[in-house]
Amino acid sequence: MSAISGKTIKAHAKHSNKAQSEKPTREEAESAVRTLISWAGDDPTREGLLDTPQRVTNAYQEFFSGYHECPLDCLSRTFDAIKGYDDIVLLRDIDFHSHCEHHMVPFIGKVHVAYYPNKRIIGISKLVRTIEIFARRLQTQEAMSSQIAHAIDSSLQPDGVAVMIDAVHQCMSMRGVKKRNISTVTAQFLGKFKDMQEQKRFISLVCP
Ligand SMILES: [Zn+2]
Repeated sequence: MSAISGKTIKAHAKHSNKAQSEKPTREEAESAVRTLISWAGDDPTREGLLDTPQRVTNAYQEFFSGYHECPLDCLSRTFDAIKGYDDIVLLRDIDFHSHCEHHMVPFIGKVHVAYYPNKRIIGISKLVRTIEIFARRLQTQEAMSSQIAHAIDSSLQPDGVAVMIDAVHQCMSMRGVKKRNISTVTAQFLGKFKDMQEQKRFISLVCP
């Protein structure tokens, strides 16, 4: 694990105390939603929209719950029950949805994640949970790929980590260039996966 990756993970691990202390109240959040409804051109006092600010605020609580969870805590429990296994561990096609930090609209897709164990392994569900924690924040696909890879690298210290994300960004489908179904692919390789042959093997297992 590099010093930079450690810093990156700590910086992203939890919402900062500063941001927590400045957190607006629920009333302020609901009022902001009413402002956006007015800005969009509708009347936030009409019957159909009366409860919308409350619903949107609840939805935001769920969409962005990842700020209140630490991926390093999630990954802290590893096992040494490797029993001579010295090859790749790959999780393919993990569905996720996140929100792009530029437009706050969803990007939706799949994550493929692999690592080469070095003496220790981790529960598969913990890897999925880690992806969820990072996805439930405002993100770029690039940063999310890097954060997942470095969190696994930092906690498990494997011989290599590979993360690939394939996603469709609603900010491209619904606005701007308005192109549907453009697949954006990002990949972050660490350690042994820096080797081109290992990357080819990873890709051949992801797309058999
Ligand atoms: Zn966007």
